[in-house]
Amino acid sequence: MLAPQVEAPFADPFFELALLGRAEHGPLAERLLDEVGLDVEYRATGILRVARTEAERADLQRQYRWQSARGLAAEWVDSDDLGRREPLLSGVAGRLLAGGLWLADEGQVRSPRLVQALALAAAQRGARIMEGTWVVRLCVSGGRVTGVQTPSGTVGADSVVLAAGVWSPDLARGIDLEVPVQPVKGQVVSLRGLGKRPRQVIWSGECYLVPRPDGEVVLGATEEEGNYDARPTLAGLHRLTEAALEVVPAAGGFVVDGVWAGLRPAAPDRYPIIGWAPGGEGLFLATAHYRNGVLLGPLTGRHGADRILAGTPPGEFAPFGPDRFI
Ligand SMILES: Cc1cc2nc3c(=O)[nH]c(=O)nc-3n(C[C@H](O)[C@H](O)[C@H](O)COP(=O)(O)OP(=O)(O)OC[C@H]3O[C@@H](n4cnc5c(N)ncnc54)[C@H](O)[C@@H]3O)c2cc1C
Repeated sequence: MLAPQVEAPFADPFFELALLGRAEHGPLAERLLDEVGLDVEYRATGILRVARTEAERADLQRQYRWQSARGLAAEWVDSDDLGRREPLLSGVAGRLLAGGLWLADEGQVRSPRLVQALALAAAQRGARIMEGTWVVRLCVSGGRVTGVQTPSGTVGADSVVLAAGVWSPDLARGIDLEVPVQPVKGQVVSLRGLGKRPRQVIWSGECYLVPRPDGEVVLGATEEEGNYDARPTLAGLHRLTEAALEVVPAAGGFVVDGVWAGLRPAAPDRYPIIGWAPGGEGLFLATAHYRNGVLLGPLTGRHGADRILAGTPPGEFAPFGPDRFI
């Protein structure tokens, strides 16, 4: 999902950054379709976040008030109207749910397809992508990072971007740099609705259901701190299933297409770490995107390229530099 609004309890510099990140995707999707012929399935399908308790309702109404006052697309949906907005909620709307927040501008994109399209576009511009090539260490000469060492040789570079997800600290440690990134594992179930599927993303406190253009419904996601094992577990699937069936009992009839898990790279404050490594000249960090790496990836990429190639200042990324930790 490309969802800066749904989890924002207030406006802060990260919220502003996330809005900019979302705005990148529409034009980027068009360009990629044009340049490499791949539809990355960017769609502004909106998110309906539902409240299950009075406390959640009060929080969501607060969110509705400040976001609509900011001029953002945010609409309050009373519990009686939830079933009309989303037929899959009609059985539970008045009984279990205390209302919902409709965020029409939140979007989604098919992230593997986005990566594939970006790689093709980069290759068309002369980038050489070495798939399946492990970087074993950063090369340093005269106090400057000068490239990377791989099992098949050294690749020299004027600048190296460290974007190795939860493995970023391992490479940084090799040059005595502590990058405080830890995994937060997330598990996901891929479903098919067989005729019945959500009209839009349904988001409750414990899970979300994302209808994809090709009929898939993605049920996500767990949050498991410090877990480096990227395999789904029975307990994780149980938590997701229970949470989904509470809000959308009709999902019990969906068929399971697959399960997967991933490791979100997270800093202690849960914000990204973007900028030149202090004391590690030639090394640019682009990591710790946590729950928002797809949302922010294109913005981070463009911003990083501008800083490296043109020496531009950090601008809106200033609060998210490595200097807050290192
Ligand atoms: C279940 C789940 C749901 C999510 N949902 C969303 C969402 O809805 N919206 C959103 O914006 N984000 C979402 N995220 C978060 C998003 O996926 C991450 O923030 C993003 O993948 C981080 O990107 P990254 O490139 O920094 O790290 P990664 O995606 O982890 O990529 C790092 C890459 O570096 C490679 N690597 C590591 N070490 C080395 C080495 N030594 N040599 C060579 N290569 C190396 C790895 O193989 C990997 O390919 C979700 C994550 C999960 C797990």
